[in-house]
Formats: sequence, C-alpha cells, structure tokens
Amino acid sequence: MSILNFFKGFAVTFGKLNHASKSGKVVTTEYPEEKRSKPARLHGRHVLNKYEDGMEKCIGCELCASVCPANCIYVRGADNDLENPTSPGERFGFIYEINYLRCIHCDLCVEACPTQAITETKLFEFSFMDREQAIYTKDELVVADDGKPQNLPWEDWRQGEDEHTSEWMRATSPSGSADFVGLVQWAGELGYGTRKPESSQGPNNSSETAPELSPEEEVH
Ligand code: SF4
Ligand code: SF4
Repeated sequence: MSILNFFKGFAVTFGKLNHASKSGKVVTTEYPEEKRSKPARLHGRHVLNKYEDGMEKCIGCELCASVCPANCIYVRGADNDLENPTSPGERFGFIYEINYLRCIHCDLCVEACPTQAITETKLFEFSFMDREQAIYTKDELVVADDGKPQNLPWEDWRQGEDEHTSEWMRATSPSGSADFVGLVQWAGELGYGTRKPESSQGPNNSSETAPELSPEEEVH
C-alpha cells in the first residue's frame, strides 16, 4: 500500500466528519437523545386494546398464543361475570403474558386475533434487568382508559410512537368490503388510532382512498 492510499483513506474519513452522505443528506442522529421517526408499520411493543366503552377486546381465545412461532404468549381465558363483564364475549383474557426475550415481532399474533385485541405500537426502546421483567403481564399491556398505551417507567416513548396503535395492517383482506379482497390494506376499526387506508390501498390499487367501512364491517 502506497503512502498515497494511506492519505486517500483519511480523505474518506474527513469527508464523513460532517455526517453528510454524497447527496448532502444528513443520515446520522444523536441517538438516543434524538430519535428518527419510525415507519407507520413498524412492529414494536404490543398493547391489548379496549373498546370505547372500556370493554376489553380480548376474549381469551388463545389463537394468538397458538400461532406464535416463538411460543412466547401465555393466555388463559375465563368466563365473564354476567353482571359486570370484562369483554363483550362470553369469555375474556384472564391472564395474558408476552415474553419479550423470545418475541421476534413477526405480528402473526396480530394477524390471528379475531377481535383486533392485540396490536403493536412503534416502541422498541425498552430493556430489562432480569427474565421476570422481560415478561409483560396483562396489567402492563392493556391500554389506558383513553385507549393509549401505558408509558411504563423503563420505556423510552417519544412523540408519535403511540399513534395508530389500535390499528394493524392485514396482509390480505379475507373479510370486510369485497373491494379489498386480495389487496393489502389497513383495517379500519373502532377506537383510538382509527385512520383511513393509505392512498395506494384503495379499490383496485388505485390512488383513491378506500370507502368508509360501516362499524359492522370494521370490527369483523
Ligand atoms: S409478534 Fe410474533 S413472536 Fe411476538 S408474540 Fe406475536 S406471534 Fe409471537
Ligand atoms: S389477544 Fe386476540 S387472539 Fe389472543 S386470546 Fe385475546 S382475543 Fe384471542
């Protein structure tokens, strides 16, 4: 290696010192003080959602646990108290735990859930000191009365990371409006975070936005 190549190497180093790429766009940030905005579909920490009336969406069916490839969900259902039900169904999620030492954030649990009870936020900045802390229980996963995720002391929430968390994206559209069969789309639903489908996910993949779904279509 000639001495010239040695200095050429430094030219690259000094060229990058201003944190700018060839395009001039700054691509580095002072993380964790400054977080870059995250994609809308990022799979982060889960939440267990509620309806507007405060009823829990989870019916304790255990479908999420059965599809989880990492075997990290533990659910136990129990019969609702008829006088004071927890969910609109016959049963509710009595115990609900997710082991985040195992979770790979594949979202299969979200796809499997028949009531859109389990969804994911955009938060992934949380850590644990031991195995017990890594297991989130129902008390921690269930949303607050305003429908938003709980901000737990060891989690680093920033603006926007709790947005649209009661929604999820279907890989396909097996139900709901026939216009969407076979098209990737957002599932409309009741509750915090409702928003319209993305522009490219309207009928026939046109640039039109999708039609408003009736409440019956939205929750099934
Ligand atoms: S995101 Fe995937 S790995 Fe994590 S709990 Fe859900 S199904 Fe299991
Ligand atoms: S989160 Fe959904 S799939 Fe899992 S037990 Fe509750 S209702 Fe069933």
